[in-house]
Formats: sequence, C-alpha cells, structure tokens
Amino acid sequence: MTATERPKLAMYWAASCGGCEVSLANIHEAILEVDRHFDFIFCPCLLDGKRADIEALPDGAIAVTLFNGALRTAENLDMARLLRQKSRLLIAFGSCAVSGGIPALANQHGLQHLLETVYRTSPTLDNPQGLVPQPVSHVAAGELELPPFLPRVLALDQAVVVDYGMPGCPPEPEQIVALIRQLASGAPLPPPCSLLGCSARAVCDDCPREKRGVLTPQLLRSCALIPEPGWCLLEQGIPCVGSATRGGCAALCPSVAMPCTGCYGPLDLDADPGAAALTAIAAAIRPPAVELLAAGGAARPVPSVGLTDPLGSLYRYTLAASVVADRKPERQP
Ligand code: SF4
Ligand code: SF4
Ligand code: SF4
Repeated sequence: MTATERPKLAMYWAASCGGCEVSLANIHEAILEVDRHFDFIFCPCLLDGKRADIEALPDGAIAVTLFNGALRTAENLDMARLLRQKSRLLIAFGSCAVSGGIPALANQHGLQHLLETVYRTSPTLDNPQGLVPQPVSHVAAGELELPPFLPRVLALDQAVVVDYGMPGCPPEPEQIVALIRQLASGAPLPPPCSLLGCSARAVCDDCPREKRGVLTPQLLRSCALIPEPGWCLLEQGIPCVGSATRGGCAALCPSVAMPCTGCYGPLDLDADPGAAALTAIAAAIRPPAVELLAAGGAARPVPSVGLTDPLGSLYRYTLAASVVADRKPERQP
C-alpha cells in the first residue's frame, strides 16, 4: 500500500499549549502504527504542512482530524471551519477543544482588561513603552497582521459540527493508542457526538486512596500539607473533584498526591460541571457553612472553610460551555 492510499490524518492546534501534541508523541513506538495505517498529512507542531495544502484538498479528503485547543482568534475559527469541510471525522481532542479548557477562563474578563493585564499591569512585565500587539502593524519590511481575538473563547462544537470529543488535559497516551487502533481497524465507532477515550466510571472508582467516611473541617490548598498516603485527599481537606469527574486517566493525579481538577469533564453529561464539582466538595465538608471567596475578595479575612478562585476551581476546563459563561457579563477594568 502506498502512502497516498492510506487514509489521511490531520492534527491541528488552535488556542493550545501544545500538551496534546506532546501526548501524541508520548505514545512512543506506537507512533509507528500511526504511520503504518495513516498518511499523517498535517500537524503544524510536528510537520511542515501549510494551510494551502489543506485548501487544495477536495472536501472530505481527510479521514480524521484531531483538533486540539480552544477557539480564541479568528484564525482558530477559520481553521476549524476549513478542517471541518475537509474532514470526514472531526474529533475535538483534549479538554480545550471539548469544553474550552484553561483558555476559556479568560471569558471572565473583557478583551481590553485581558490586554491591559497581560501587556501593561502584570507585575512581572518588562514593557516600558506599554506596547500592546495590534491587528495591523507597519514595519520597515512591510505590513504585519495578527488575527483578531474572538469576543470570547469557544469550544470547538460551539463553532462547527463535531463528530466526537476526546477529553483530558491532555488525553492519556493509552487512550490515544486505543483510538488510533480503533480507527485503523475500521471497527464501528460509538454513536455520533459520543466521548471517546474515557469511561463511565468516576475518577474516584479508579483511585487507590481510601475513603474513611470522614468529613473535613476546612479546605486547604494542595501545597498547604503533605497528605497522608493512601487516604482520600478530599477527606484531608484538599479539594479533589474525582467523584464528579469522568474516569479514563486511571486516577493519575490523586495517585501522586495531587487533587483531581476535573480535566476529563463531568461524570454526568447533563449536569453543569461547576455545580457538580461544588456538590462533590461541599458533601465532604463538616458544617459550619461553606463560604466561597470571590476572586477579587482576597482582602477579606480567610475563613476556616473556603475555596479560593471558585470559577477557576470549579470550571477549570469547562467555562466556555457552562451556564455561568452565558450568564456572566464581561468584567471590564
Ligand atoms: S487540553 Fe490541556 S494539554 Fe491539550 S492543549 Fe489544552 S491545556 Fe494543553
Ligand atoms: S476524592 Fe479524590 S482522592 Fe478522594 S477517592 Fe476520589 S479521586 Fe481519590
Ligand atoms: S485525575 Fe482528574 S485532573 Fe488528573 S488527569 Fe485524571 S481527570 Fe484529569
């Protein structure tokens, strides 16, 4: 079989940290199976393919596109539409593509506030002229263009039709290998719009830590204590949302004493992810009442029971797709 006869595979990063590509590279020698079964034609992080190469393809010419990253800029959106047009299967790959991920936390703020913070007021900046990137800049060599921001960060399925989602920040290499083998085998895929590479069990179900039925009197940051080995982190006061989170990672984080922050998404697809996470945490706390500290309320005395950065804790990977994102007005400086 020649390279041109193999089904075409593409991978694209939009507003992405690159970790999803690293996870693909982490399948190690199984990458040879990718090469054996697919013609890997496009992956800007790893290969020198160009947008023009994709534009030149007939519609539907790409068998599978793994699209990672959220949609932050007009270029991200444009590539999402182009790859949708050229792909028979479009898979939202990783939490940023599935539900907005970390980039969507920016939806708490207006664009001007974001630019001011990143380029002018952040205490670690070295930008004495206060320069802020412009959509068009005139330099000696000519005119430079940057793609404009979208008004808010979007998950992939908020812009184009998506066939499947594969959650995880990033998806685990074992899950990627299983997906590649399933696609290569021609075995039937689950119903459209299903999630791939994850289980119907909660992270807690795979966690080696014991739940002792103890309620915690306070919530602590994970850096505030060295947790007792073998004992549930949440019962020790470290906010861990494993009971509200879909499994598929073999409880990776709590296995190494880090709380689950929910990157595989809510266990209950019909639930608001932040509400599900809050319920999981609140159920582990011994009264008195839980008090949430508003993100800007750091000057207030810290209560004995509190959850700093509620949105960042409860909607870390899901703010773009949450009801909170729809209802919360943009905060201006
Ligand atoms: S899902 Fe995680 S690893 Fe993948 S691009 Fe987003 S932040 Fe990076
Ligand atoms: S809450 Fe976290 S630490 Fe406790 S059992 Fe569940 S996943 Fe493990
Ligand atoms: S334990 Fe939670 S945060 Fe960690 S990889 Fe698994 S789902 Fe993601």
